[in-house]
Amino acid sequence: MGKKDAITAAAGFVITVIILVVAITLLQVAFGIRKNPDDGLPAQADAAHILVIDAGHGGMDGGAVAADGTTEKGINLEISMILKSLMEVSGVKVVMTRTEDVMLDGSGLSGTAKMRDLKKRLEIAGQYPEALMVSIHCNKFPQESCKGLQVYYSAHEEAESAAGAVQDSYLRIDPTNHRKIKKADSSIYLLSRARVPSILVECGFLSNGPELEKLKTDNYRKKLALVIADGIFKAIGEE
Ligand SMILES: [Zn+2]
Repeated sequence: MGKKDAITAAAGFVITVIILVVAITLLQVAFGIRKNPDDGLPAQADAAHILVIDAGHGGMDGGAVAADGTTEKGINLEISMILKSLMEVSGVKVVMTRTEDVMLDGSGLSGTAKMRDLKKRLEIAGQYPEALMVSIHCNKFPQESCKGLQVYYSAHEEAESAAGAVQDSYLRIDPTNHRKIKKADSSIYLLSRARVPSILVECGFLSNGPELEKLKTDNYRKKLALVIADGIFKAIGEE
């Protein structure tokens, strides 16, 4: 990268940060988290607001794999890290189940290794009984035309309302999306065993060419993180 490119990249980053801060402020005002929009200080959300962010898969477990070899684990982590920044700047305490490309509690692709990994994620969330957990994933389906974000939720009232708010917020990105929130059954281990209200966001389909290309861009991942943050702010604000 040349000096001019570096300056352009730095300017781009600053603009992105400004856009995100403005967007967050607007969201907070819209959903009543920022009580006094004139005080010029970052809003301090209630200390009770803890968000556990779980970036799905990691390490040897790549999760869903696209035709071009892209794995969901990396996309999940990227979106999760942006979401972390958005929530923290708003005063929400964030706990991450992972911040690196690792499986939790050992590695391997055996059923028991994957189970240990999921149990560890639940154990981390379980340490914060007042928290909301959001698990970030990407989808895959044999039918290539399948696309769009879909939110699953655990058997908690708060989870259902958070799922609904995130699903609704996604319509700002794609007003044609007809996917509806779904209550998780026992096939989604994380949600069926979660003790805290939890949602799982399937951010898009790696099996849909155009959606895959978008998911691979930083810009689209920022939009997805904003949509998820928007829904969560709304859910928190309505408590
Ligand atoms: Zn997944």
